[in-house]
Amino acid sequence: LATLYLVATPIGNLSDFSTRAVETLQSVDQIACEDTRTSGVLLQHFQISKPTFSFHQHNEHQKVKHLMNLLNGGLNIALISDAGMPGISDPGFLATREAHQNGHEIIAIPGPDAATTALAVSGLPCDRFIFEGFLPPKKGRQTRIQEIAESDITSVVYESPHKLVRFLEKLHEYAGDERWVCVARELTKKFEEKDRAQLGELLPRWREKKSIKGEIAVVIAGKTYSE
Ligand code: SAM
Repeated sequence: LATLYLVATPIGNLSDFSTRAVETLQSVDQIACEDTRTSGVLLQHFQISKPTFSFHQHNEHQKVKHLMNLLNGGLNIALISDAGMPGISDPGFLATREAHQNGHEIIAIPGPDAATTALAVSGLPCDRFIFEGFLPPKKGRQTRIQEIAESDITSVVYESPHKLVRFLEKLHEYAGDERWVCVARELTKKFEEKDRAQLGELLPRWREKKSIKGEIAVVIAGKTYSE
């Protein structure tokens, strides 16, 4: 039996990579990377030279087989994604499930993730929350936004910059002017930004922007929250 390590990587700031994460990557036999080129930058920075292989969402089923063969052969493998915690809106779930089913040890090396980082800086209630990840692009999208608007507890959504305004507009339709929202952009990076306000005030600000770039997590307070 072998060990599958789920190693969190920085969501923007390389200094967030932990000592234990580096030591783990140095100790394993191979590293499964969501994107070997993206991870190459990180591995080079920390002078980690280990065999890597690609493990992305589009070929996850097929790659799980390969990964299981390696584990079953007694090799210890680390799984890393492009950023943050593997398995969180990233490949990892299938591999982890199969590793459990095959009796391997699974060890997480925790680290940054955009969802709890955004939640923590939002200044919105963090005692309970729903992680929505990326909403479906078409079918079911509206229903999910409605559910978020109806929720009594805080929600966290990952959204791409070019869809942010459309998302806020739909949310505004269901949740109204008063709803508290925090848009967290480029967390841990040079141009980190938090815009925390009620939708009636926040939405026009984002509508007016000529271009919106970077990585964005949106925190939406529950329906009954007020301040
Ligand atoms: N596994 C990652 C995690 O643990 O958060 C999430 C990966 S998901 C493919 C990438 C999305 O996470 C981005 O589109 C954005 O919504 C969010 N995200 C990642 N880095 C971020 C950052 N520095 N600031 C704000 N949101 C970020």
